[in-house]
Amino acid sequence: MYKTIVIGTGPAGLTAAIYLARANLNPLVIEGPEPGGQLTTTTEIENFPGFPEGIMGPELMDNMRMQAKRFGAEFRTGRVDSIDLRKRPFTLSVEGTGNLETETVIISTGASARLLGITNEKENIGRGVSTCATCDGFFFRGKKIIVVGGGDSAMEEAHFLTKFATEVRLVHRRDKLRASKIMQERVRGNEKILWSLNRTPLEVIAGERGVTGLKVKNNESGQEEIFETDAIFEAIGHTPNTGLT
Ligand code: NAP
Repeated sequence: MYKTIVIGTGPAGLTAAIYLARANLNPLVIEGPEPGGQLTTTTEIENFPGFPEGIMGPELMDNMRMQAKRFGAEFRTGRVDSIDLRKRPFTLSVEGTGNLETETVIISTGASARLLGITNEKENIGRGVSTCATCDGFFFRGKKIIVVGGGDSAMEEAHFLTKFATEVRLVHRRDKLRASKIMQERVRGNEKILWSLNRTPLEVIAGERGVTGLKVKNNESGQEEIFETDAIFEAIGHTPNTGLT
């Protein structure tokens, strides 16, 4: 029987664990399939206060984990399948561990990358379709890459991917970007980046060896176009992981 269980080890979960451990509430922290959360799949973080030179995402998360451990937070790996909040103590069903009881639970399960939902997309994840530039960018050294999206993530990924690609084409469904000015300027100054605004993605084109193109609709002319590419990185936001029953 635990006083507190924290589900998730992203910045929210680990911050909770640090405060709980320092309040002698002996938290058990459950680490799911992506320990450290989304920041472990990013590169340099420039806007986290306290790091004037920036810090790498995985290093920041390691530091937070060590900080929580230092004050006595306990960690366990597992996926929480369900929680019964109808009666106290609450019961959590954890894959591989069984049932755990706790007086309080903090759900900090973060979010998952959204997909476009277009034809041929799911079949080609891992064959050129990706939602993580830092994980998969390396595989497209010397190749053509498309990044879909108009927010800060798309700008960040496009900029990062120019390290590997011969060209990075930014495809966005509107003619205005959602990204912050500073991120836009960084990308606009990068000669390897081509702009294809006002294009709605329709279909992933792929052959036996993976992605070869992206079919889009030109929203000005109404015409369909195909951009040749070896990879499509989707950076169109995230959906909260609140599907626990
Ligand atoms: P976002 O700001 O929600 O942007 C998502 C982008 O994807 C939008 O441009 C959206 O188009 C497009 N989109 C969404 N669904 C689409 C669909 N079905 N088909 C085509 N396009 C679609 O998400 P984000 O870029 O991941 O950023 C999330 C938050 O994190 C923001 O607050 C951002 O500032 C922050 N962030 C900050 C940094 C940084 O400062 N270094 C880096 C990454 C993220 P519309 O514009 O037309 O809606």
